[in-house]
Amino acid sequence: MTTDLTRLTMHALAAAYRAGEATPSQATEAYLARIAALDTRVGGYLTVTAEAARAAARAADARLAARRPLGPLDGVPLALKDVFCTRGVTTTCGSRILEGFVPPYDATVAERLAAAGAVMLGKTNMDEFAMGSSTEHSAFKPTRNPWDLSRVPGGSSGGSAAAVAGDLAAAALGTDTGGSIRQPAAFCGTVGLKPTYGRVSRYGLIAFASSLDHPGPITKDVRDTALLLGAIAGHDPRDATSVPEPVPDYVAALDGSVAGLRLGVPREYFTEGLDPEIARAVREALEVLRGLGATTTEISLPTTDYGLAVYYIIAPAEASSNLARYDGVKYGLRVPGRDLIDMSSATRAAGFGAEVKRRIMLGTYVLSAGYYDAYYGRAQKVRTLVKRDFEQAFAAVDLIVAPTTPGVAFKHGEKEDPLAMYLNDVFTVPVDLAGIPAISVRGGFSATGLPIGLQLIAPAFEEARLLRAAHAYEQATPWLERRPELS
Ligand code: GLN
Repeated sequence: MTTDLTRLTMHALAAAYRAGEATPSQATEAYLARIAALDTRVGGYLTVTAEAARAAARAADARLAARRPLGPLDGVPLALKDVFCTRGVTTTCGSRILEGFVPPYDATVAERLAAAGAVMLGKTNMDEFAMGSSTEHSAFKPTRNPWDLSRVPGGSSGGSAAAVAGDLAAAALGTDTGGSIRQPAAFCGTVGLKPTYGRVSRYGLIAFASSLDHPGPITKDVRDTALLLGAIAGHDPRDATSVPEPVPDYVAALDGSVAGLRLGVPREYFTEGLDPEIARAVREALEVLRGLGATTTEISLPTTDYGLAVYYIIAPAEASSNLARYDGVKYGLRVPGRDLIDMSSATRAAGFGAEVKRRIMLGTYVLSAGYYDAYYGRAQKVRTLVKRDFEQAFAAVDLIVAPTTPGVAFKHGEKEDPLAMYLNDVFTVPVDLAGIPAISVRGGFSATGLPIGLQLIAPAFEEARLLRAAHAYEQATPWLERRPELS
């Protein structure tokens, strides 16, 4: 029984606790044992906080025994991407420059999960500073895809997605700046939701591109995403861009029907670069949704082609500014030098990996005098057009249905050319630029047995609509029955 606990969704685990069939300590031990046995192969975790997890589980045991749980997450073992600051627990953001950095405070999302009684198992691996689509750019180790260890889990939240897919955590948090929740969710066959910008606090999240960074859940099914989003969403006065909108009951929203829902299918997403197996899976998903009473129409998002170019100007520009703080003075690594400037350059040269350096140089270039208007200023204007495309589309449809990625999980080392890697984000980046919510759910499998991601996109603050349609689709399809053969 105990090892099977790691197969359960969060809501099934919570039900087992309530029925007295399992305790948080048993589930936590089962996860710690599985991590010890398998994570050397998967590489999902950078830090495992076993003793703190055991203590939190014991406290949850006591609350459940007294029939006073803090809520549906009480005693549920979760993992956090190493981009979130956790008080007293090493937080590296996948970078040597933050090696050994122990934050003196918790990110708001970590604080909210702890207040809900969740048990943190540890911190998950990621591409350095969340720059990447494969988790091969972590300074510490690569993460492997539980469905096929020779393949990448996607990125940058690859450790979180692999941990959830491999039953090494009941659920996890990731961040999505250009696709880093949805793309690894698609590659690993998990659910991943990028909320509306401002819906979930960024306080305590190590910044990559502040106008694009979105924290969100990665889970085994849609119900768990609704649960986890409900726990982390809501206004936070410590994040100036956090929005003071009330948080709906996302779990209650799951029960609605999709009959009459108008779905738009963007023509520009079905281009040459799209794997035909994925195109077929999306068309079959539309068939399923039509069978449930939804209607579908073709729509156009004409600026789709510009999304990547705009993203790869704005994101590096913001990153070059955000990463200026790593100067060897206050945080992590310090390489001695003759004077302050020398110390700072030696520290940055040794502490940042190649991809991070590339982004800092790109970002500095597009912001420099003489180029600012031509690159950064123009990219900001096109970003407005991308946003407008979605607004116009949503005048006629309720949701947009699309592939999450152009291909399935690729092999380690397969995409060494940075441009080939960036192309992975073609269907996820526009949604980040627009700040609107989107979810990736399991939408079938390739002939080789790899998961395919189906993406649903909604207008701002319509996460409940997104979850309702995703849940209806999940219930109507057999995809969740398969699991990776890790052991
Ligand atoms: N792959 C994209 C990048 O490298 C997106 C990363 C992210 O969403 N954090 O920037």
